[in-house]
Amino acid sequence: MKTKYRHAALFFLLMLLALFGTATIVSAQETGMFVLYKYQKSMGTETYAITKKDGVVNLSTEFQLKFIGSGFSLDTTLKLNEKDLTPLYFETKGMTSTRTRVDAKVEVSEKGTATITNFGEVSTHTPRGRFFTVFQPAPVSPQMMLFRYWKRNKIKNAIPLLPGGSAKIEYLGSDEIGVSGTKWKLKRYAIDGVMWGREIAWFDKDDRLIALVSADAEMDRFEAVREGFGDSLEYFVKTAAGDAVNQLKNISRKIKPIYQDKFALVGGTLVGGTDFATVSDSIILVKNGKILSVGKRSETKVPDDFPVFDATGKTILPGFFDMHAHATQAEWFPASLAAGITTMRDAANELEFIVPIRDAEKSGEITVSPRLILAGYIDSGPSSVGKMKAETPAEARAIVRKYKRAGFEQIKIYHSLKKELIKVVTEEAHKLDMTVTGHIPRGVSIWDAVEDGYDQVNHLGFVFPIMTSRTPGAERNFDPASKAALAGFRFLKENRIVVEPTLARGENSSKVFGDSFSSTEPGVKKAPFEFQALIKSMGVPAESAARRQRGRAFGLQVLKALHEAGIPLVVGTDLVVPGHTEFREIELFVAAGLSPIDAIKAATIVPARAMKVDSKLGTIEEGKLADLAVVDGNPLESISEIRNVRYVIKGGKMFNTGPLWRSVGFQP
Ligand SMILES: [Zn+2]
Repeated sequence: MKTKYRHAALFFLLMLLALFGTATIVSAQETGMFVLYKYQKSMGTETYAITKKDGVVNLSTEFQLKFIGSGFSLDTTLKLNEKDLTPLYFETKGMTSTRTRVDAKVEVSEKGTATITNFGEVSTHTPRGRFFTVFQPAPVSPQMMLFRYWKRNKIKNAIPLLPGGSAKIEYLGSDEIGVSGTKWKLKRYAIDGVMWGREIAWFDKDDRLIALVSADAEMDRFEAVREGFGDSLEYFVKTAAGDAVNQLKNISRKIKPIYQDKFALVGGTLVGGTDFATVSDSIILVKNGKILSVGKRSETKVPDDFPVFDATGKTILPGFFDMHAHATQAEWFPASLAAGITTMRDAANELEFIVPIRDAEKSGEITVSPRLILAGYIDSGPSSVGKMKAETPAEARAIVRKYKRAGFEQIKIYHSLKKELIKVVTEEAHKLDMTVTGHIPRGVSIWDAVEDGYDQVNHLGFVFPIMTSRTPGAERNFDPASKAALAGFRFLKENRIVVEPTLARGENSSKVFGDSFSSTEPGVKKAPFEFQALIKSMGVPAESAARRQRGRAFGLQVLKALHEAGIPLVVGTDLVVPGHTEFREIELFVAAGLSPIDAIKAATIVPARAMKVDSKLGTIEEGKLADLAVVDGNPLESISEIRNVRYVIKGGKMFNTGPLWRSVGFQP
């Protein structure tokens, strides 16, 4: 049934019940609908109904997404004790986003024992004291009930949650918005712990949820706005962005650099000096945010007034680039920095969110974030990724110019951009001294895209067709050693195309629903419960997982072939596990057959060149910005030691990575 009709039918039914209901019949206490957005583009609805019967409050919701063609639904029921809203029963089953699925149930017995079923795994838990049942960010109405529970019981501390984790609610302030001439006074809160990171929520005087700005289960920017309040969407997004800036400023005030101004790193193995040379037993002097000098200990003197950091047994690398971030929540910034990422190319975000954070990082008010290089997305048509879409050349140029004015360095073409707009976008971008990266839109050949002006391509899969003949209808037999493939690689090389494969993201997309992913990515075990649950919910059914796994092995061969053909390759994460996916991507470059040093270059100097910042970043050389990662052990000997980033230096500020991880709920 179409959502609209379903909602109407539900409403009608509840009206009937309200009219004819007696004390023994269920009567509708409250109904509502939220419009769901991704990157401020409407992509579904959530309807809810609250009824009361025999001392039990029952919330039922229908959450429906229609994103990129296919539709998904999720049904959730929550039963609460009417007296104090203590949960009695909770069940949620279905798709929470295009690639996440939940199947969880919590049943609380009269004795107070909770039986938890999650993907068929059963456990029991007896909560002591207050608790609530809510799981993941979708649907949003259970969070409204969590809020009412918190308020009703005047809870001061974190609320333990079932199936797991805990939530904190914090009052942030009050906002007044106008809705068709009427003023609404709303109160704004941060909810932390249902979803990894802070969600911003607005409630009215009756504790009805009006809007929620968050990330969805697949970590995209997500907004839920109550029907009738849609005109204030941008206001909600901007206000939540302001809260994110404040949150990052607060963390910046709390986590002080262990060294800044001037200091010396003495005795470490330096990797990535001039010509990317390795220097053992090195001395690096840092002053005023820059590298003052680099050399062998035997040839360098440390000035008396420079504090010394003993780097014996450590490897010092140029700070990493993550070339495919989507920092959709404030927490991504400290987590990325903790992983040694000192420059993040954000490859599509909400302008209203990322720009104020970028500005506060630039001005130095936010220190716990990598530097930001921004790529703004552009798309067309009904299945566009977000609201930045163009149907005409004039609209396309206007969007490119809008990004340029906001200080973006790059445009990212998404999968539905009209073929005839590609050249318009690349020409406008190049004219404004911006580069262009992207997916290859549906129905467009990679040859045409490259000839139309692409500088870079995201995701290895989009490069596969280059291994076949350009002739339409030619056999699509991908063999990286074939003559056609070699000709294709030459074509990419001649056009100086940079490829960013996102192999680790592919690995995550190939896993089975319910799998913890920790055998592939050990970083998962360091994440808080709610993040681990999110990762568990990602994936595909077992049948498709096996096929995708084979595709991944082939991808490694293609990466190696591209490398041998001399095509610049760069490391990018595309979400998954904050920080850790950077390590995994570097490991996979080595698994594909690149040397550890080439894999490290792909995370440092190669992206610095691709983004035209190599005069300041990408190597450890005198005069460059002091952006460094200090690692225990030697990743040149065993690439997984890249995971041991103990200190990170950005702009001459040196941080212990432990507090950075803990500031976003991760174990170091
Ligand atoms: Zn992406």
